[in-house]
Amino acid sequence: MAAIERTLVLLKPDAVARGLTGRLVQRFEDVGLKIVGIKMKQMDADLTRRHYFDLEERFGKGVYDATATYMQQGPVVALLLEGVEAVANVRRMIGPTFPGQAAPGTIRGDFAHMSKAYAEATGKAIANLVHASGSVDEAKYESELWFGADEQFDYPGLAERYVF
Ligand code: GDP
Repeated sequence: MAAIERTLVLLKPDAVARGLTGRLVQRFEDVGLKIVGIKMKQMDADLTRRHYFDLEERFGKGVYDATATYMQQGPVVALLLEGVEAVANVRRMIGPTFPGQAAPGTIRGDFAHMSKAYAEATGKAIANLVHASGSVDEAKYESELWFGADEQFDYPGLAERYVF
């Protein structure tokens, strides 16, 4: 039987500032993902470090600092989504990290264009609209980081009957 999973999605400051919140949430709901947690939050240095705890190790201080500045430039909308193979499904919906490489039909491909070369030449973060957990283990860590037990919900959705 396919696994029902929960995954953490952040609508990053560029998505919120561009007024894309409703359209992006709609995409997730349209494929039958159930919202089991939702909130708006201004990230601070501590939350950024805990969320991207291995980013500096993976890509260096320059990428970490650019990403930290970008993630704190305005509020984010955090979503906890539940569905069949939700972790991989949401990653498929958002597309690869660099929007310049993301196919049309993915969120990053449809709403952004920034390339790795442009980000590197300008020292800008990759403004790629959304974050989504990369693995089931990461989803568990991030869900607990972003949502307390009383902010995570359980309720029957019609997608279980008709979409999955
Ligand atoms: P994601 O899971 O697709 O978001 O990608 P990663 O976990 O590898 O990286 C996290 C975030 O760091 C990305 O979404 C980007 O905002 C930023 N980032 C990653 N790699 C680079 C890079 O090479 N240059 C810059 N400027 N930002 C990067």
